Amino acid sequence: MAAAAPEAPSRSACIFCNIVNKLEDTEILYEDEEICVFRDIRPASRFHILTIPKRHIEDVKSLTAADKDLVEKLLTVAKEMLTKNGLTEDVARFGYHWPPFRSVKHLHLHTIAPESEMGFLAKMMFRKDSYWFVSPDYVISRL
Ligand SMILES: [Zn+2]
Ligand SMILES: [Zn+2]
Repeated sequence: MAAAAPEAPSRSACIFCNIVNKLEDTEILYEDEEICVFRDIRPASRFHILTIPKRHIEDVKSLTAADKDLVEKLLTVAKEMLTKNGLTEDVARFGYHWPPFRSVKHLHLHTIAPESEMGFLAKMMFRKDSYWFVSPDYVISRL
């Protein structure tokens, strides 16, 4: 029988929501009730993943104190993914875009490693503690 489930999610204008709802071919590296992890389509180094909340949150400025646990969990999951891939925190770069400097309007934590393999442009685009790319600690500290 080819009938689709009645509650099948419909396509969203948001590409990341579509990934969460398995409407894209994107390989999901990890997921649980709240979080989903997949590779960045334009990797800035050998390892480059995006860790996102399944719920559509536009960006870091849309976060509230109620999201603190979620934001902490995004980082925990990202660090676990690093370890699983034989990489360590000290060679990795973590960060969020600071609005309006964001590519996709669905909150995502970038984890890039090793930093030593990042090219010049990638280093600029994901520049640590710049006014367009901020650390997870900074984001958590604001909540
Ligand atoms: Zn979304
Ligand atoms: Zn991004």
